[in-house]
Amino acid sequence: MPTCLQWGEERVESCTSWADQGHSECTQWRDDGYSSCTAYEADCCDWWPCSWACKLVSWICVASVWVSSWVCIAAVWIAKWVCVGWTVVTTAICVLWDVVTTIVNAVLVTLEGLIGWVLSLIAAVVEIILSIPIIGAILRWVISLVTAVINIVASIVDILAGLVGIRPEKILRVCPVILADEFSRPVGNLAHAVDQLQVAADMLKRDCNIRLVPSGPFQYSTGFNGAPQVTEGWIKVLSREVGDPDTLDPSCNAEGFGNDLGKAGSKFNLLMTTHCFFGNWRRLTGYGAPVAVFFVRSVGGAEGCGLWITDFVTVVGRTMPVQPDLRRITTHEIGHATNLWHVPVASNGDNLMSVPRPMLPDVMQFRFYDWQVLLVRASKHVSYF
Ligand SMILES: [Zn+2]
Repeated sequence: MPTCLQWGEERVESCTSWADQGHSECTQWRDDGYSSCTAYEADCCDWWPCSWACKLVSWICVASVWVSSWVCIAAVWIAKWVCVGWTVVTTAICVLWDVVTTIVNAVLVTLEGLIGWVLSLIAAVVEIILSIPIIGAILRWVISLVTAVINIVASIVDILAGLVGIRPEKILRVCPVILADEFSRPVGNLAHAVDQLQVAADMLKRDCNIRLVPSGPFQYSTGFNGAPQVTEGWIKVLSREVGDPDTLDPSCNAEGFGNDLGKAGSKFNLLMTTHCFFGNWRRLTGYGAPVAVFFVRSVGGAEGCGLWITDFVTVVGRTMPVQPDLRRITTHEIGHATNLWHVPVASNGDNLMSVPRPMLPDVMQFRFYDWQVLLVRASKHVSYF
């Protein structure tokens, strides 16, 4: 089912349940009013003219409760139809936008499939220069920062539309690579990588209306489909290369930033330039830049790392099955790459970005909050085309 319609339906349901609650509050208030009028009347004095005056007051009491309860019910009824009407309008805009992106995407994906190689070859030359330690790294960071800011500013209309419930489908491209160790053995397991990406695909589609797409030519997509099925074909497994500890066992946080300036950063950038070749031009221009997901051997005691400033995230390669909270790692790191930071677990036990990792029995219990959805959708890695 198209997600625009799904959301529309959910919001109509919440309009209805809100109105039902309002209606029962009005009737409750009316009943309470009647009984207090009756209680007043029961206390009336029994000598004329006091009893007559008292009766009159109690009738006025009943009449005013009756009138105001109807005003209350009418107001709820009007509010409900405004709520439903607004939802219908925003849903229609959302569906219309999905139709437009489906058509334009078909044209652009075809065009990109034909000339993307040339653009990416040109970008690859620049990326090789950007792979020079320190100077290249600083340039990479500047490009990353500038394109991130441009994307957020350019997304203001989308953010405002998102606030009022118009969230047509956007695309996030990924380039998953399982690295090889010093003996050319892959450090990760395909089933694990597929599971990690499937969780990301399901969660991004469910909460953000973002479609996860493998970076590559002729990846047609439409907002009228459900979450994509991740296959082994999405993932590149390095099995002939000789790995080295700079990329196999990267660091995170401050040390990770420091290493990105040096030779580890260079090596990761070259890995992306070669193994995520088709995404090079997008990565350089910062428009729908693919997120490279490197499955590595270790990340300094953590399970993964996303530094935001880099176009890649790292995830420790494991064999299945893994416990539910570990199934969220790739989605969490993609969250960092797409503008999100940690939130305290104390008040956000079910949030994807909460640390330390909460132990939830099912990975799909983790979710993005509404404000996070708007930030992710404004990321340079997320685009309509
Ligand atoms: Zn994190």
